[in-house]
Amino acid sequence: MDAKSKQKVVLVTGGSGLVGQAMKKVSEEENRPDEKWIFLSSKDADLRDPEETRAIIKKYNPTHVVHLAAMVGGLYKHLRVNCDFLTFNIRINDNVLDSCKEMGVEKVVSCLSTCVFPDQTTYPIDETMIHNGPPHDSNFGYSYAKRMIVVMNRAYNMQYGCQFTSVIPTNIYGPHDNFNLEDAHVLPGLIHKGYLAKQKSIPFTVCGTGTPRRQFIYSVDLAKLIMWTLREYEEIEPIILSVDKEDEVSVGEVAELVAEAFDLKDKVLYDTSKSDGQIKKTANNAKLRKYLPNFKFTSLRQGIRETAEWLETHYENARV
Ligand code: NAP
Ligand code: GDP
Repeated sequence: MDAKSKQKVVLVTGGSGLVGQAMKKVSEEENRPDEKWIFLSSKDADLRDPEETRAIIKKYNPTHVVHLAAMVGGLYKHLRVNCDFLTFNIRINDNVLDSCKEMGVEKVVSCLSTCVFPDQTTYPIDETMIHNGPPHDSNFGYSYAKRMIVVMNRAYNMQYGCQFTSVIPTNIYGPHDNFNLEDAHVLPGLIHKGYLAKQKSIPFTVCGTGTPRRQFIYSVDLAKLIMWTLREYEEIEPIILSVDKEDEVSVGEVAELVAEAFDLKDKVLYDTSKSDGQIKKTANNAKLRKYLPNFKFTSLRQGIRETAEWLETHYENARV
């Protein structure tokens, strides 16, 4: 076989987003001759539509798919449009996996989230506990849609022998995130607020009490781990991609790091009229550590600094 016939063609759905752009950066830096990467956005195809999905997968005829595309957003967007999170994501996932099966794609890695875990649980949560109880009310639509990927992967493997697997990242942040204040997750939301506080000398206000706890992964670290999953991970069952549980921080601690990155001198304010959402969802990364004991994560302080600098440089074209 010549080099070209052995080349993997990797199609990334959601390639224009936070994680997709980090994967683009890492794949360009690696520049492996045995892999060709293609990054899609919703402009290439609306994956809620079965025909558009089938056509785009047929067009590129990938050997491998990284399925990132989803309706994504922070707590306050989930509280507004919970039903859309459920129905849009169910459709996207069903269309993508069905088309991949039809086209004989060799491997698919889909992206879940630690939102899928039960609200009432013991901590830290691991991959075996996903279906042990209802998710938190605030984002139950998104959670159930994502949980079904695990079920679909198992079913496609059992009946058709498909190698479809999934990853479970914690809260993600980095360049190219959605920084829109209404829709953003906590870190891009706080980084945008920090930027505005510095530019306009206005208060830096955190939503809620600041006590909920989260694990944050830098998008570039996650991109490297998803690439490892694509190349090396052979299980159908999901794997949590997370920093260690000791690296979990409170929203208040994160806000202090954002204030430091923008050199804000004033006190951080808290708007306690806003919901806190899920109090914590501490994930256990023991499975990842068994495979990759030495993987080094970017520190939260450095990742926040890099993301804040990116927003300052790209504000005009960023999703704000
Ligand atoms: P993002 O920045 O919002 O990007 C979403 C991507 O999906 C974009 O490329 C978007 O295309 C595409 N997309 C959305 N709706 C689509 C549709 N109907 N048809 C085709 N493409 C569509 O999201 P992200 O943060 O990178 O998330 C990537 C994955 O990680 C998602 O599966 C998400 O659920 C998961 N995740 C995210 C977080 C987090 O904190 N961000 C945490 C855990 C898991 P356009 O650019 O054209 O709109
Ligand atoms: P979650 O991790 O899925 O719950 O979603 P988020 O990433 O949106 O994080 C929500 C947590 O961050 C809640 O405890 C919010 O009260 C808190 N938070 C503080 N400030 C903000 C903000 O500006 N935007 C968002 N989305 N959450 C914030």
